[in-house]
Amino acid sequence: MTDILDLFPQYTEELKLLRKTTREFAQRNFSPELAREYEKKEEFPWDLYKKAGELGLLAPSIPTDYGGGGFSTYLADIVVTEELVRAEPTLGLAIMAGPFTSHMLYFFGTEEQRKKYLPPIYKGENTFFGAYTEPEHGTDITQLNTVAEKKGDKYIIKGMKTFITNAPTAKYGLLLAQTEPEKRHRGQTLFIIHTDWPGVTIRRLTGKMGQRTIPVGEIYLDNVEVPAENVLGGGEDKGRNQGFYWTLAYFNVSRIGVATLGLGIALAAFDKALEYSQKRTQFGQQLVNFEIIQEKLAGWLCTLRPLGH
Ligand SMILES: Cc1cc2nc3c(=O)[nH]c(=O)nc-3n(C[C@H](O)[C@H](O)[C@H](O)COP(=O)(O)OP(=O)(O)OC[C@H]3O[C@@H](n4cnc5c(N)ncnc54)[C@H](O)[C@@H]3O)c2cc1C
Repeated sequence: MTDILDLFPQYTEELKLLRKTTREFAQRNFSPELAREYEKKEEFPWDLYKKAGELGLLAPSIPTDYGGGGFSTYLADIVVTEELVRAEPTLGLAIMAGPFTSHMLYFFGTEEQRKKYLPPIYKGENTFFGAYTEPEHGTDITQLNTVAEKKGDKYIIKGMKTFITNAPTAKYGLLLAQTEPEKRHRGQTLFIIHTDWPGVTIRRLTGKMGQRTIPVGEIYLDNVEVPAENVLGGGEDKGRNQGFYWTLAYFNVSRIGVATLGLGIALAAFDKALEYSQKRTQFGQQLVNFEIIQEKLAGWLCTLRPLGH
């Protein structure tokens, strides 16, 4: 397999070793047949997720105190994502999507919230969700219909979220709601919500065009009582009305992860093309010996150069 990425100076020896470990894990455990099986059943690959958790692959850049891998750079997450998706996109993506948005809890949660909620996710025991989208609010989340009203030391949440990754499998996750609807995006707060609380109903959505190993669902909230301590960041003055800003800050980081998925898939396509060009013979020669094929393969590798090499 081509290790062009290791040519970038940002990849230290430590990160190269992480890449090697991840690649070996994927080669041992992934196969196209297994991916098709999970995809057909529309099932999340819990066994592989757990194994990835045991190896510390679910959150390499999160400190070990919270169950992460302890690398000091987000590049570690990028390396793992690249390798898992490159080995097998369906299974790789499902595994990387398991802890989806939990970095947000790490960035903005209190110490207590981090210690309570993060380790089970990174051990591969739980998945996590981030619920922002509603039927009427997708790209534009500046005014939500889901409302959280403060009553004593609790919030009462009413509303509905749709297209939420991991909602059918996760025991808890983050949910964005209006705490002061008249303030629009300035009046939104993030809450840690448990899916087994009274008033919470999850409805699984099935039949996606692809990536069916990643569960997606709707969350209905019918006067759900949420303790004020479950405001992300803690209590009144810290987390209240910070939700929109924290969500956008997190989206900026997660977009790097989304770009990495594309890179992982592109690398997989390159690996397959190179392999085939070496195996296939025409006019008495391997395809890779033809100049036009070499030009195509080399041209693709050159597209990585603007990235810094
Ligand atoms: C598989 C899957 C998983 C998802 N997981 C989650 C999740 O975990 N959590 C969550 O909260 N949401 C999730 N979503 C929802 C996703 O975030 C929304 O689909 C997305 O925000 C777009 O919203 P929308 O579908 O309502 O499209 P719309 O906002 O209605 O947009 C429709 C089209 O118009 C374009 N458009 C909108 N505004 C503009 C503009 N100003 N200028 C130019 N073009 C514009 C959009 O780009 C899009 O092409 C998921 C969606 C899918 C399909």
